[in-house]
Amino acid sequence: MTTTDTTSPVHAATDLPTVGHWIDGADYPSRSGRTADVYDPALGVVTKRVALADGAEIEAAIASAHAAFPAWRDTSLAKRQTVLFKFRELLDARKGELAEIITGEHGKVVSDALGEISRGQEVVEFATGLAHHLKGEFSEQVSTGIDVYSIRQPLGVVGIISPFNFPAMVPSWFFPIAIAAGNTVVLKPSEKDPSAANWLAALWKEAGLPDGVFTVLHGDKEAVDGLLTHRHVKAISFVGSTPIARYVYETGTRNGKRVQALGGAKNHMLVLPDADLDLVADAAINAGFGSAGERCMAISVVVAVEPIADPLIEKITERIATLRTGDGRRGCDMGPLVTRVHRDKVASYIDIAIEDGATVVVDGRDVVPDGDANGFWLGPTLIDGVPITSRVYTEEIFGPVLSIVRVPSYADGVELINDGAFGNGTAIFTNDGGAARRFQNEIQVGMVGVNVPIPVPVATFSFGGWKDSLFGDTKAHGAEGVRFYTQQKAITSRWLDPSHGGINLGFPQHD
Ligand code: NAD
Repeated sequence: MTTTDTTSPVHAATDLPTVGHWIDGADYPSRSGRTADVYDPALGVVTKRVALADGAEIEAAIASAHAAFPAWRDTSLAKRQTVLFKFRELLDARKGELAEIITGEHGKVVSDALGEISRGQEVVEFATGLAHHLKGEFSEQVSTGIDVYSIRQPLGVVGIISPFNFPAMVPSWFFPIAIAAGNTVVLKPSEKDPSAANWLAALWKEAGLPDGVFTVLHGDKEAVDGLLTHRHVKAISFVGSTPIARYVYETGTRNGKRVQALGGAKNHMLVLPDADLDLVADAAINAGFGSAGERCMAISVVVAVEPIADPLIEKITERIATLRTGDGRRGCDMGPLVTRVHRDKVASYIDIAIEDGATVVVDGRDVVPDGDANGFWLGPTLIDGVPITSRVYTEEIFGPVLSIVRVPSYADGVELINDGAFGNGTAIFTNDGGAARRFQNEIQVGMVGVNVPIPVPVATFSFGGWKDSLFGDTKAHGAEGVRFYTQQKAITSRWLDPSHGGINLGFPQHD
């Protein structure tokens, strides 16, 4: 048996359970002989392993989803929605269990895990009303005796490939709508925190979803490539880092799939001099350090329009001193990072900042955690005067490192943000309605907050960025999600009577 990512010096036990796949509505133990380690990040130990699928397992997962499709597609919308309602009720009642699982593998504090589940539940609730969104169009008598109408139909098997940072919410952006629309789903979760997917699969079964409609296939690049190239997979929803998103988009589309691939981010918060700096400091702390900065909508750069940088830094620093970093099960504010490798990579940016001439105001490496000494700890870090040529500014760090960049004016701030490679989220903080309105118009970013630091749209709207933050034409959930998981068909219909006889080889014209 080979394993990957065995970076922790401490292993809890030699006899560890393995998280297997979920195929045909049941646990499906893997025989591939390949696994990856799954850590409890607050303890710094490997607590289980996750199966990494081989070709036979990929084939079994997709074959099961393919076989389940015709019956699920033909199940009435009312019956499909009944399953959705039941799933929503079970999720709502039992989300505490799921939150504990997420904290045990991802490390985020339990309240934050509950928050991500609630945002996922929102999409389930949206999907319970899918009948409304699937309504077609109808034009009567477009030509004599002829009506034209359109319907939206499911695609077939759809693949969802998700990142480690939201093991429940990100898959939930997609599968409720895909399933309600009549597709069958193969979910390939992150190998870093795989158990939430199996818990959700078992919940679907309890809600009455037929076997094969929701499948979990664990794995690495081999499983991803299997989904991207298999002839029975019609569409791919991917969320992860930008290089992999680009690869998934290019490979998937080359293989004839419909693909939406959401990538990385570097989100800026523009602070105008008229803003309330106490509220701004609160927002910067929440959006910079929540989930240890491992959010695609985290704020990683505060762009301060002078002269407010110094007083703002003072207020942020005061607040950092009140934060408790530690085990997410102990009521702390901020948990560990997901693996030691990731923690060390994030920490390395602090050295880069120093080399590049920035000032480290608060160094998270000095944190004293409320947790096990082996945990993957890095405290909140604040860096002032980050040069925009520094990798600290240009690269996605994905950790609790907040940079301050000073600009002389609103226009310089906007230019800076628009010059960035990513375009996921951004926010402006001001009391000037005119400036905010101008910002929402001028900024080249997909999701914009006005005095809202993490502007994740509600489920009835669609989630997604611009530029290197999204490859493809459609965003997640809302109307765009419905469009992604369905294909439109236009029907031209005439009910014949004797007056329609006669031969005419010309192209159909209206009369
Ligand atoms: P990742 O790109 O490493 O992994 C994402 C998925 O791709 C996982 O399922 C993983 O198994 C798979 N994968 C990894 N390497 C692969 C390869 N070489 N070929 C094919 N598949 C591969 O991302 P991550 O570290 O799990 O998640 C963090 C990233 O996700 C960050 O960049 C973050 O910004 C991004 N993210 C973006 C959004 C968004 O909405 N835009 C939301 C959440 C996370």
